[in-house]
Amino acid sequence: MNILVINCGSSSLKYQLIDSISEKVLAKGICERIGNQGSRIVYQPAGGEKEITEAPMPTHKNAIQMVLDSLVNETTGVIKDLSEVGAVGHRIVHGGEKFNASVVLTEEVIKEIEACNELAPLHNPANIIGINACRELMPNTPMVGVFDTAFHQTMPERAYIYGLPYKFYTDYKIRRYGFHGTSHSFVSKKGAELAGLDINHSKIIVCHLGNGASICAVENGKSIDTSMGLTPLEGLVMGTRSGDIDPAIVEFIGKKENASIDRVMDILNKESGVLGISGISSDFRDLEKASEEGDEHATRAREVFCYRAAKVIGGYIAALHGVDLICFTAGLGENDAGIRKGICSYLDYMGIQLDDEVNNSHRAVDVKLSTPDSKVQVWMVPTNEELAIAKETLALLK
Ligand code: ADP
Repeated sequence: MNILVINCGSSSLKYQLIDSISEKVLAKGICERIGNQGSRIVYQPAGGEKEITEAPMPTHKNAIQMVLDSLVNETTGVIKDLSEVGAVGHRIVHGGEKFNASVVLTEEVIKEIEACNELAPLHNPANIIGINACRELMPNTPMVGVFDTAFHQTMPERAYIYGLPYKFYTDYKIRRYGFHGTSHSFVSKKGAELAGLDINHSKIIVCHLGNGASICAVENGKSIDTSMGLTPLEGLVMGTRSGDIDPAIVEFIGKKENASIDRVMDILNKESGVLGISGISSDFRDLEKASEEGDEHATRAREVFCYRAAKVIGGYIAALHGVDLICFTAGLGENDAGIRKGICSYLDYMGIQLDDEVNNSHRAVDVKLSTPDSKVQVWMVPTNEELAIAKETLALLK
């Protein structure tokens, strides 16, 4: 069955058409600047040229229509008819406490997802717009929702309750939810397989290090803790997000800069992280280059990033009472040998040793990074959230 995977943001929409049997991507692309001037669709059929077409897309429905037109296009399309799309899998950011697994999207379920909107006001409303647009254009095609938060719903209370008055949890549902769940789930399963572990008797730490970054402790296949919280702002120092800070800093910056709460939150989300520390870039490639050229600000940003990630891993080794496997994934985890080395250099006490030659010579492939005598296996396991969504969709419809 061919499954269309949709990841709909407020002004962009990423898509992939995946053959769920062969797990091959038939076509993929992105619609950008939806609702703005200069909107365009990028479409790439497997083995074919990438096409970029500028076209007005006032709404997400227009964007999805363009995606469907591209897929069935007589010359560059990959299917003859839309009936060849068996189902649509939608990425949804926040499922609150309501959703601990993927669901078939019905009118009623969509209402329940809408009730989670206040927990992710930047993301969920856009996800729902994408779902509704697809339902209008493909009313007879089954749709499934796959949540970033669902995998973490197995966390024990002691991991998700904040040190706040408990009524904020009962009244407002303020708690740790965690994100990147589809990736943490996919990578921990794949990592266990590669490392020869029985997932049901395993202690795994997954480091999803991209522009947004989070670490997850997985015990016997279940998430027991993760570094992101109520929102994706908590935890590691990220590309532009601060990660953990003393909460009193919010008030302090507000007073010093005469800034509103909204402005301070903007600083923490968009102007902080390694961008803020370095003053150069949020992209670790730029920082690596600047650092090699002797820029101390870039070096500092990379060092803070590694140190903070290592501290989280150390904490999760305690939470798990040990660790069998550490996995690195996403943009940095799959491409930045210096960051992996920087993090693992703090873990030598635990008997964790990287094979430098392997670490330095591989990108974005499944590969064991640790030496044969390392007490804990370390693997690079490229994530594939779209394939994970397609598999979930297929499993639910079966
Ligand atoms: P997100 O999906 O959260 O936007 P990604 O997983 O794409 O983020 O990761 C982006 C980060 O990964 C950037 O800092 C970038 O520098 C780094 N990255 C991506 N590709 C490479 C590469 N080929 N070499 C080194 N770093 C890379």
